[in-house]
Amino acid sequence: MRRKLIAGNWKMNGLKEDSLALAQAVFAKSAALPNKNFDMLICPPMNVLGMIAMLPHNDVLIGAQDVAETTKPNGAFTGDVSATMVKDLGATWTLVGHSERRQYHHETDAVVQQKAENAIATGLTAVICIGETLDEREAGQALDVVRRQIAESVPSNATATNTVIAYEPVWAIGTGKIPTTDDVAQVHAAIRTKLAEKLGTEIAENMRILYGGSVKPENAKELLSVPNVDGALIGGASLKADSFWAIAEAVL
Ligand code: PEP
Repeated sequence: MRRKLIAGNWKMNGLKEDSLALAQAVFAKSAALPNKNFDMLICPPMNVLGMIAMLPHNDVLIGAQDVAETTKPNGAFTGDVSATMVKDLGATWTLVGHSERRQYHHETDAVVQQKAENAIATGLTAVICIGETLDEREAGQALDVVRRQIAESVPSNATATNTVIAYEPVWAIGTGKIPTTDDVAQVHAAIRTKLAEKLGTEIAENMRILYGGSVKPENAKELLSVPNVDGALIGGASLKADSFWAIAEAVL
């Protein structure tokens, strides 16, 4: 039985005061609901990650949004933050390969795979993001793209406990557009099959596959009940504790 995961990606949003207030509101709601039947993860930006990780965060998991590609824990890599540093800040998870990193920082599958491998080797759990662009979907290539991304972005040290996949169609991120539930079901099934080919059936059956892209309180229940959807990665709607929690409540 795969436990659902509700994950928030704050992206490049939040100065200290607002971020503290948002984190505290999320933690307070979590404290008011002991024995949840799902996991909750927030991924604040690096400027506030350490500060938030130091707060009592109940059972909310804390993650970064990226880690460095180099396998070195420190060194001459200006601007980079290693998985070791992320862990030292108190985070236990990280996103890797978000489409905004792939698009704006030209991260290839090989780079994403290396980042995921570093995260896992350091003891972090990696959420590996994949998903097709609009052109790829319109060209009928969505399944081929996600299969390639699984083959080439998921490292060989991935297991069901140290890795989560997030399927995020690039055209659905921040646009208010979402795929049909049939399309989501088809892609998630293809991802699981490809994971089985790469990592074996047992790991594939237990690995969580999230859907991400314009998840809102209004569509959460429908998306979260699609077969093989084991949770959600949420951008915009995770920036308000109320809407983030309204999405989480869809799995109660
Ligand atoms: C994201 O950036 O991972 C995301 C899913 O964003 P949004 O929910 O805003 O579409």
